[in-house]
Amino acid sequence: MISKQMESGLNQQVKREMEAAYLYLSMAAYCEAEDYPGFAKWLEAQAQEELGHAMKFFRHIQDRGATVKLHALAEPESDFASVTDVFEQVLAHERKITASIHELYGLAMQEKDFASMPLLQEFIAEQIEEEKAASDLLARLKKAWTEGHAVLLVDQELSERG
Ligand code: MG
Repeated sequence: MISKQMESGLNQQVKREMEAAYLYLSMAAYCEAEDYPGFAKWLEAQAQEELGHAMKFFRHIQDRGATVKLHALAEPESDFASVTDVFEQVLAHERKITASIHELYGLAMQEKDFASMPLLQEFIAEQIEEEKAASDLLARLKKAWTEGHAVLLVDQELSERG
């Protein structure tokens, strides 16, 4: 049995993951329009991943016999200053997602909702990866501006050592 509060929290999480997909799709469109097909591709793939996250929460709500309530999605930002700005916002968004998942896990503990814990634990681990990916990309972008791209090319070369 799932509590009303947990049901509401999980439904909110479906919305958050869908909004992340929406935001990343908007960013992908911006990057493509700015002639950055690589960043656009990464963001489009990321948007797909977020849809998959939303579906996992959707499935969990259904499988637990709770009620799915789909909320209206916020219109995503579409005006970005630069690709660095895009990845600043990706990182900030992922940190918000992490906080909401931690909050849900706290609720699951409080309510002894053991059945929600494996799913939430999977997402706690997932968020470590998501934040690291965004943070690494952002750091490289910043370095490209300050140290010049040649340094990044040398780094790339060294990273290919077996
Ligand atoms: Mg996600």
